[in-house]
Amino acid sequence: KEERSDSGAFQLFEPALRANLRQRREMELDLKAALDADEFQLYYQPFVDIADKRVSGFEALLRWNHPAKGMVSPGVFIPLAEEAGLIERLGIWCLETACAEAATWPESMTISVNLSAMQFKSATLLSDIDRALSNSGLAPERLQIEVTESLFLDESDRVLGILKEMRRRGLTVSMDDFGTGYSSLGYLSRFSFNKIKIDQSFVRDMGRAENLAIVRSVIGLSKSLNMQVIAEGIETEGQMRALLAEGCHEMQGYFFSTPQPKEELPRVIAEITKRWAGDLTIAAETT
Ligand code: C2E
Ligand code: MG
Ligand code: MG
Ligand code: MG
Repeated sequence: KEERSDSGAFQLFEPALRANLRQRREMELDLKAALDADEFQLYYQPFVDIADKRVSGFEALLRWNHPAKGMVSPGVFIPLAEEAGLIERLGIWCLETACAEAATWPESMTISVNLSAMQFKSATLLSDIDRALSNSGLAPERLQIEVTESLFLDESDRVLGILKEMRRRGLTVSMDDFGTGYSSLGYLSRFSFNKIKIDQSFVRDMGRAENLAIVRSVIGLSKSLNMQVIAEGIETEGQMRALLAEGCHEMQGYFFSTPQPKEELPRVIAEITKRWAGDLTIAAETT
């Protein structure tokens, strides 16, 4: 974040910073309008269970189809929505839309929704989830919630209480991007997550001994703490095989499918199923 750089850099880049601020203000205004104009869309990326040879569910990934700027990445607009006080409304929209979509899928498939830390400040988060479930008729057992370690930076007791309530309802609570954040191990012992998601940065180069060691110990940790484990960012057959050899069989990544709009999901499921051909010889697709 630019404003946190030292004062020398601040002065040097002040004109650029101003332009940047103005741009951000504009985007924040655009965001408000976008919610009303229906410019948001959820894309869905499959979770693949290699052992069971099936698509086990999808993660909902938010997209903003900006009239002038085209597709804006959530990495850009989610922080802006948080600053502009719009994340609560946007988050409710994601929960409602994702649950309604998942209710049309086979019952064996789950839906995973990302929640940002700021959504946990809302007094209505749990009732928003309850409403999304009852409006859609989706069983709570089919809803997964992905949170990151930044959630525990403050008010961790309150946060742990909300996570416990989620689990009591039957939801699956996953720790996303595991290993990239601030806290990790302490919170794993204070709160039992259902699932750990190994970050793509460790998967990317498992040929490096350091990354392999981290992947191996996260998988070991998940087993000894009785949690499920999934790896994200699998792009090659080699990565898939290496993870499988380490005992991680749920995976997600471009190797299986990029995030796709809901209309494409029957095709995504059919193609992944077809690529199995009875064993693990999944031909790498050129995407
Ligand atoms: P995430 O939840 O860790 O999602 C994984 C990101 O990696 C997604 O980027 C996905 O498109 C991308 N990805 C998936 N497979 C691969 C791969 O094989 N290789 C590479 N290089 N990348 C891959 P995306 O969709 O841009 O989302 C970025 C982040 O924005 C997400 O990270 C999540 O933290 C956040 N986000 C997305 N949707 C939502 C949402 O609805 N609510 C909130 N609060 N945050 C969201
Ligand atoms: Mg995620
Ligand atoms: Mg992630
Ligand atoms: Mg990530």
